[in-house]
Amino acid sequence: MNERTLPLPGSTDQFLITERPTPTLTDRYRPLPEGIDHTLFVVVPAHQVRTGDVVTAFFTNGPGTRRAQHVLQPFTAHPRPFGICPAQNEECWECENAHASGATADRYLCLDPADDFADCVIDFRNTPVAIIPADTAAHFPPLDSVPPLPDLFTLDDGEHGPYEALPVSRTWSPWDAISVTRTTAAQIATDLPLSHAGRYLTCRWLGDALLIASDPHFRTEPGRPGRIIQPDADGRYRIGGLWPWEDWSPPPCPDCATATERIDVEDETVWL
Ligand SMILES: [Zn+2]
Ligand SMILES: [Zn+2]
Repeated sequence: MNERTLPLPGSTDQFLITERPTPTLTDRYRPLPEGIDHTLFVVVPAHQVRTGDVVTAFFTNGPGTRRAQHVLQPFTAHPRPFGICPAQNEECWECENAHASGATADRYLCLDPADDFADCVIDFRNTPVAIIPADTAAHFPPLDSVPPLPDLFTLDDGEHGPYEALPVSRTWSPWDAISVTRTTAAQIATDLPLSHAGRYLTCRWLGDALLIASDPHFRTEPGRPGRIIQPDADGRYRIGGLWPWEDWSPPPCPDCATATERIDVEDETVWL
């Protein structure tokens, strides 16, 4: 298994470092850059994380042996005091939740402020964090040398798809478009008219352009026949706006029919 246990000065707990899981459809672990693995991890309390350190995992609750909970998206830390959120006017759930639970700057900090794709990362100052120290990480390719995993979308509660799309922004909403390849666009064009969500829509290819048209009897906007979607410069199609997309989530376990469950552990979403 290649696991090892690390101590943390000042703590009687043991920190079990496991190999980073490989990504699957249900476990969206973005791979670390070439040459970086869990043998380079160091455990520090959140308040000792420095700018440039790469955050790779949090841990299950103690006391005793605390197991690494690898983050789905490793990120480069830019620590700052809690309470200054760059997304003030757009929702940042992390900061909202932290404020709602009475978090204060003397007990909490922000490991990395919100950007277009992720909320702030707010943690208790003493939360143990697995990092790759900045000076170690500097010897390896940057995090963005590994392309992000596609986001997965569906129609009708998982009946169709999953459809792979470029990661959507933090402020994306289900009536916004997603960016897909021609192959995925063709699959959507086949599935959509057969779906409940798209039951009043028809799809037709006009050369490279995809026409998604609504049944004139059910048009909510008179004179608006639908939309023509042209491929962008990368040959991708931005599809959506006429029905709500749903996030794809894993189907029930075929062996025991128990729904797989999404839970939040120390600010990271994991799948059980
Ligand atoms: Zn925030
Ligand atoms: Zn099962």
